[in-house]
Amino acid sequence: MFEKILVANRGEIACRVIQACRELGIATVAVYSDADADALHVRMADEAICIGAAPNSSSYLNAANILSAAVVTGAEAIHPGYGNLSEDANFAEAAEGCKMTFIGPSAEAISRVGDKAAARKTMRDAGVPVVPGSEDGIRDADDARQIAGELGYPVMVKASGGGGGRGIRIIHNDQQMKEAVSQASSEARSAFGNGELYVEKYMEDLRHVEVQVLADKHGNCVHLGERECSIQHRHQKLLEESPCAAVSSSLRRRMGEAAVRAAQAANYSNAGTVEFLLDQRGRFYFIEMNARVQVEHPVTEMLTGVDIVREQIRVAAGEKLRYEQGGIWFNGHAIECRILAADGERGFMPSPGTITRWEFPSGPGVRVDTGVACGSVVSTHYDPMIAKVICWDQTRDLCIERMRATLQGARIEGIKTTIPYHLMLLGNAYFRRGEITTQFIQRRLPIPTGGAL
Ligand code: ADP
Ligand code: ADP
Ligand code: MG
Repeated sequence: MFEKILVANRGEIACRVIQACRELGIATVAVYSDADADALHVRMADEAICIGAAPNSSSYLNAANILSAAVVTGAEAIHPGYGNLSEDANFAEAAEGCKMTFIGPSAEAISRVGDKAAARKTMRDAGVPVVPGSEDGIRDADDARQIAGELGYPVMVKASGGGGGRGIRIIHNDQQMKEAVSQASSEARSAFGNGELYVEKYMEDLRHVEVQVLADKHGNCVHLGERECSIQHRHQKLLEESPCAAVSSSLRRRMGEAAVRAAQAANYSNAGTVEFLLDQRGRFYFIEMNARVQVEHPVTEMLTGVDIVREQIRVAAGEKLRYEQGGIWFNGHAIECRILAADGERGFMPSPGTITRWEFPSGPGVRVDTGVACGSVVSTHYDPMIAKVICWDQTRDLCIERMRATLQGARIEGIKTTIPYHLMLLGNAYFRRGEITTQFIQRRLPIPTGGAL
């Protein structure tokens, strides 16, 4: 096992990884930007090194500085968290080049699934059902129009190198294509350094259901069931839960098998997530594979009792998976709310500031994963997600009540959060009946804009 790990991230996921290392008796190195000198993850780690100025591009995306920090402190492995450099194959390769273990899949596997157009091909060849769409990346708007003609509108153009809901456009007719392609392509070029796009049939009123997989370097791979992630704002998840109301145990088995097949086709090791769209008839279609720990992994941890971050570290160190598929059990229901520093009553406007009060109730089945504390400064440089509240109970109804009581009891001052919206969501009749699709927020519960009272 490793003796020292550098955590190449910030916020709640850095804290989550540091805590897992503590449990394993592994020393930790935090990295931080000028804006984060007093951040919680810095205080939690055994050592901390500054890696640059506040903007992500100067610090948490600065591969050279992060690798130097790892070399100087004698770290043997790097945990990248999610976002930032977690799905950067060059970074994974450079880490291995410095004789450090990258806690994630191999650089080859990251590349194989990271190019979303290429991943669709790999999955199709492996017999995993894929959303109908282009064979490859598209050349230009005319090419996209021709494919849209075959698929039928509406279609979506998506960035091959995309993530975090960016570089995506929905198109309803030929006339909209040219502008959408040029916008999506330039957005993708600036966000991901790669302007390539591909086309998919836009499948309305489906659910986003994803499957967690865990694989070791010895060819063993299991799935840990599904997560329902349809509650999305601008293609970004806001609340996740497991199990999904629309997934029976036989569908779970079939989706799980498809996810394992997907991981094997990519020669994948470590934790990963295979995302699908699920229709009302139980048909599911691959959208993408995320080659990292997912924001919403705690939902699965609550249901299965598997510590996903600990397993990531163990399998990266070369150990065998300690689970077989038959030994994975799904118990009860879990829900996660992503708490953003954004105004839940005014269109999710960013709400930076200093947190002057930060209290959550606790009790059985309540978990708060946070990257902040009282006194923390929330800056606009980083992702607005500052914490996650995860609740578990025996049934979905009980779990919803537990989450409501937990969020109602939260006392946060100094910044606005999305909690008021989450409370409305938890009380919504459609939500409570489990009638949810990726259009839920738009159709059933638009984000309040806080206009004239
Ligand atoms: P999840 O399903 O884990 O939430 P997301 O796609 O929302 O996955 O990504 C998790 C985090 O990583 C978010 O903060 C998101 O903004 C960021 N992220 C994801 N992909 C990229 C990318 N390619 N470039 C930059 N940030 C990304
Ligand atoms: P990202 O890499 O940014 O996470 P995804 O390809 O996973 O992008 O898509 C983000 C979200 O957009 C999905 O969770 C889903 O809600 C929606 N989406 C993606 N593809 C389609 C599609 N073909 N039809 C309808 N909705 C889609
Ligand atoms: Mg996705």
